[in-house]
Amino acid sequence: MSGEGKDPQAIRKLAPGKLVIASHNQGKVREIAALLDGRGLDVVSAGELDLPEPEETGTTFVMNAELKARAAADLSGLPALADDSGLCVDALNGDPGIFSARWGGETKDFGHAMRLVEDKLAALPEAPRTAHFVCALALAWPDGHVEWFEGRVDGTLVWPPRGDKGHGYDPVFRPDGHDVTFGEMDEPAKNEISHRGDAFRQLVAAVF
Ligand code: IMP
Repeated sequence: MSGEGKDPQAIRKLAPGKLVIASHNQGKVREIAALLDGRGLDVVSAGELDLPEPEETGTTFVMNAELKARAAADLSGLPALADDSGLCVDALNGDPGIFSARWGGETKDFGHAMRLVEDKLAALPEAPRTAHFVCALALAWPDGHVEWFEGRVDGTLVWPPRGDKGHGYDPVFRPDGHDVTFGEMDEPAKNEISHRGDAFRQLVAAVF
């Protein structure tokens, strides 16, 4: 699932100039700015522009990325890029999915969120431990045009958590074809195979 099936000629190109990163998370803004480095873009965050954060009312990753990108493009009058991502566990019907961040609670405690996933899986001893991460990117222009891209990586959930690199659910996710979890991988190695790396490679190939 991605922009892969799209006709490359039909995808709108992103011209050099200002681009709003529709996030108030400075870590995420820095990471995205680094991935887009060297493209002639002058990156500014929704936080810096004091734009309000829209409520994530979508039922899919793409819908939530799109509503964040559209809101930022409408309010700023500039092209805007947003992402939405999460972990989908097959035996839990895709949960926590779009609620991945919220399972960490107010304090964003992912030790707690990983334990919650494990407890639910432990109650289903015969169930497969397969899962995947998804990252949706939406690029919106002030005239309403939107391009989107979706990246994915498949793997297996391990217990107990392993490794202290990365963030979120990384310590319990072992990507297919690897013996280590995302929590045990350096960031460049993770980016080569991750859902986020996949989505950004599609975007870069399509819009520049
Ligand atoms: P978002 O910032 O609303 O897209 O929330 C994404 C949430 O999904 C994060 O808070 C993490 O819990 C989880 N997540 C997304 N990508 C990753 C990843 O690469 N590793 C671990 N957790 C992730």
